Amino acid sequence: MSTTASAYGATSVSEPLEALTIERRDLGPKDVHIDIKFCGICHSDIHFARGEWGDIEYPLVPGHEIAGIVEAVGDEVTTFRVGDRVGVGCLVNSCGECSSCERGEEQYCIPGSTQTYGMKDADGTTTQGGYSSDVVVVEDFVLRIPDGLELDQAAPLLCAGITTYSPLHHWEAGPGKRIAVVGFGGLGHMAVKLAHAMGAEVTVLSQTLSKEEDGKRLGADHYYATQDDATFEELQGRFDLIINTVSAKLEIDRFLGLLTIDGTLVNVGAPPEPLPVSAFNLIFGRKSFAGSAIGGIRETQEMLDFCAEKGIAPEIETIGVDDINDAWERVLKSDVRYRFVIDNSTLAEV
Ligand code: NAP
Ligand code: ZN
Repeated sequence: MSTTASAYGATSVSEPLEALTIERRDLGPKDVHIDIKFCGICHSDIHFARGEWGDIEYPLVPGHEIAGIVEAVGDEVTTFRVGDRVGVGCLVNSCGECSSCERGEEQYCIPGSTQTYGMKDADGTTTQGGYSSDVVVVEDFVLRIPDGLELDQAAPLLCAGITTYSPLHHWEAGPGKRIAVVGFGGLGHMAVKLAHAMGAEVTVLSQTLSKEEDGKRLGADHYYATQDDATFEELQGRFDLIINTVSAKLEIDRFLGLLTIDGTLVNVGAPPEPLPVSAFNLIFGRKSFAGSAIGGIRETQEMLDFCAEKGIAPEIETIGVDDINDAWERVLKSDVRYRFVIDNSTLAEV
């Protein structure tokens, strides 16, 4: 048994996305049925749908920055009611029993978490994401959107927000810390806003200076172009923490030179190619090269509440579904200011 939903997705590795109809499972006792109002476009949607991270099954409906309104709840649901403002990020299930899940870090679930699209769900079907009219998700993976956040602006926080909040929090961004953000796109601009709100000194390392004015307006203290070799000389040994949000292969060794002794470069960008580093660039300076994936459900709620309290929201460009293919091309050209958000009311009626 299922209900039909209107969607927009990929039918092959190379065709443009198109209108689709998909099935959503009927409400189980612990499920929340969400009427999706907005969905952000993450660069991961493009990597995944185009098979850059490995072969996938089609059709695929991307989207893991979902904001909407609860339309129905199962009999055993206790934390949400019809009409609540809610969000869903990259995770829709996990084992609930391993040490990672017990710590509330479901993104590191040892048997493997279930992500919002392109993965096998508990009922054997493939998960489909938020470029769609409706979604059904178990209550434990649904987030509450605080009153202080508009739904369209809340959507990108469910991936871009938590993916940058989590490492900033883990590596203790705050007063007295010098932090660099590499790449000023969807994740990068959230990293700047969040690190600034946490009290750190923030530097953007973008390919060019074309977005410098925006960077400074959104919270950066300094802004440098990585195409300029002088940047790497001037900033030698400067940063306690570097967050790399770049979606393409980057010469990590050059950036390790910008860390202080004991500094850490955290990769959140997920290009398909390996990112080699020279051992010597880590050894001489006791430096770390780390990675970080999204955040757990508890931390995601904490991030949403932090953003509401501090008045932090992404810079968004709202589009209709007919503009999704163009938006993807603009993301690929680093021409995003700074997150596309789909208005899901523009999906076809089913
Ligand atoms: P995005 O909006 O496209 O931003 C990426 C930025 O990287 C661009 O704006 C650009 O910044 C820079 N860039 C792009 N190509 C480059 C190149 N060839 N050389 C140098 N810099 C380049 O993408 P996003 O949505 O923020 O996602 C960024 C990456 O994070 C993607 O790989 C995505 O899959 C990954 N991701 C990871 C997680 C996680 O859990 N770890 C979660 C979400 C996303 P400038 O124009 O400023 O140079
Ligand atoms: Zn994402």
